[in-house]
Amino acid sequence: DDDVNEKIDYVFKVVVIGDSSVGKTQMLSRFAKNEFCFDSKSTIGVEFQTRTLTINGKVIKAQIWDTAGQERYRAVTSAYYRGALGAMLVYDITKRDSFDHVTRWIEELRSHADSSIVIMLIGNKCDLVDLRMVSTEDAIEFAEEQGLFFSETSALNGNNVESAFLKLLQEIHNRVVS
Ligand code: GDP
Repeated sequence: DDDVNEKIDYVFKVVVIGDSSVGKTQMLSRFAKNEFCFDSKSTIGVEFQTRTLTINGKVIKAQIWDTAGQERYRAVTSAYYRGALGAMLVYDITKRDSFDHVTRWIEELRSHADSSIVIMLIGNKCDLVDLRMVSTEDAIEFAEEQGLFFSETSALNGNNVESAFLKLLQEIHNRVVS
């Protein structure tokens, strides 16, 4: 374990949600391990990965939870959301439906998660420029209306993944210390 000798100041639980196949698992492995895995996953059940990093001089252990396919069966349980301080709400910029369903995911968060949860809307697969079905402007407007942070990412080439997670963790940290 990489943090045996480190003093952890905070553990922040972050959940990754959104429709199936938008790239949640790949986002997570990109952030936690800087990997993109070309084999699709086969495990079902809640899993998390951790990464320890320093924000404003504090050692933060980010514990990032993946639905591991439960969303396919509409079976994401309240245990998944319990204690979560942040949420990465991911859609696929090439799948209009996955963006239209974001409102459902926000309702899900409002009913199961803490009301102070920090939400980051993520338009993933921004490497697929020719297949884009959701404009950046629409997403920015929606995020502003809903009070969400927003970024477009590519888990495939790594674009903005790190900065999106860092922004979310930074915002959580700001709320924790204020
Ligand atoms: P999940 O069901 O939301 O966890 O989605 P996965 O992480 O399993 O990804 C679903 C599919 O999209 C897989 O075939 C991934 O290889 C692919 N994928 C994920 N992220 C990206 C990305 O940023 N760009 C591209 N082009 N494909 C991606």
